[in-house]
Amino acid sequence: MHIAIIGAGVSGLLSALELVEQGCSITLFDQQHAGHAASWAGGGILSPMYPWRYPNEVNHLAQHGKQLYQQWNEKLQPKTGIDFQIHDTGMLIFDEADFELGLNYKDQHQEPMQHCEYLQREQLETVNPHISAQFQHAIYFPHLANIRNPRLLKSLISYLKQHPQVEVYENTWIEKFNIQNQKIQSVESANGQRFVADQFVIATGAWSHCWAEQLQLSIPVEPVQGQMMLFKTPENWLPTMCMNNVMYLIPRRDGHIVCGSSMDHIGFDKRPNVQTQQNIYKACIEMVPELANFPIVKQWAGLRPSSPTGIPYIGKMPELNNLWANFGHYRNGLCMGPASAQLLRQLMLNQDTCVDAKAYSTERLTAYAPLTQQSSLS
Ligand SMILES: Cc1cc2nc3c(=O)[nH]c(=O)nc-3n(C[C@H](O)[C@H](O)[C@H](O)COP(=O)(O)OP(=O)(O)OC[C@H]3O[C@@H](n4cnc5c(N)ncnc54)[C@H](O)[C@@H]3O)c2cc1C
Repeated sequence: MHIAIIGAGVSGLLSALELVEQGCSITLFDQQHAGHAASWAGGGILSPMYPWRYPNEVNHLAQHGKQLYQQWNEKLQPKTGIDFQIHDTGMLIFDEADFELGLNYKDQHQEPMQHCEYLQREQLETVNPHISAQFQHAIYFPHLANIRNPRLLKSLISYLKQHPQVEVYENTWIEKFNIQNQKIQSVESANGQRFVADQFVIATGAWSHCWAEQLQLSIPVEPVQGQMMLFKTPENWLPTMCMNNVMYLIPRRDGHIVCGSSMDHIGFDKRPNVQTQQNIYKACIEMVPELANFPIVKQWAGLRPSSPTGIPYIGKMPELNNLWANFGHYRNGLCMGPASAQLLRQLMLNQDTCVDAKAYSTERLTAYAPLTQQSSLS
């Protein structure tokens, strides 16, 4: 089977990987360089932040992330030479209002990854000696990890580009589906080139609403900007991830610490701004005051593909026989990525599914309403 995948972020790349490993041939498109959008910009925490604030459907996919990434890292590394570093740091959460919620969530769900413990100051200092004295206690998730997502993307791209059954077209904006007899016959790029395949997958992240008019569906996925800041400390300096007030510190093995983030609905604008960077800096120093002694080496922003509930759309698109979805992962596309791609592959190849697929169905997309009609409804 020949499958064309539009979008080479983590959703498209992992979908390609799952499908090529089953013998499919893949053509992958991206409007820019592969792996340069939200999936590069993200932090790589392998769990939703505060899982109890998310629907079970998000947590069900996310809970497989760490293990599946471990398997992919082992498989890909000999071919690519890239270790994308699943860094088992655990995480401290300082939000007092979440202590009881976190401990109850652990008791109810018994997911090893979400095991947590309440720590008094003395224990907290042994787990992480750099935490500000203003935090006298925390809850600690010892099994939470992060991945180095830019390296993950490099590894996926390198593996796929070496694969004889994969073709990658970068700098290729796909703008049109040619539809006949309830089937996509081909897709067309901005410069008029046509590409045929048996099946087609939309993995276009924050751009996914662009298909709404052509498909006559309302696609409620829009970009939500998140800004980040990168510190450089000595190797293995900060032992755990830290979280407070939805702001986080994510240590990498080589001493880089990724910090964020913000949430702004400002369209496709990816420019970091001074005010937000100051807020992130303040939140970082509040958690770990010694960070003020280390340089900030980079600042950036990325565009999350928001969806109303954060539950991605995975499965066959309505009305058409050969068009599939894997988009709308919002804040959790890196941790949900491997299981989302696995689910897509299972649905496309008629295999048993790892989770109940109904909750992710594209049947949740409603009929397209042109803007004038939408505004008269609101
Ligand atoms: C600041 C920030 C922090 C984050 N932290 C985390 C975290 O810690 N953990 C976590 O799990 N998630 C995190 N996320 C969320 C995660 O990054 C996203 O959910 C995920 O990357 C979405 O992946 P994607 O492949 O669907 O989208 P993208 O990575 O955006 O990829 C979509 C691709 O489609 C291409 N494309 C779009 N339209 C077309 C077209 N018509 N033709 C050709 N190509 C097209 C784009 O160029 C793009 O490369 C974070 C996101 C941000 C911004």
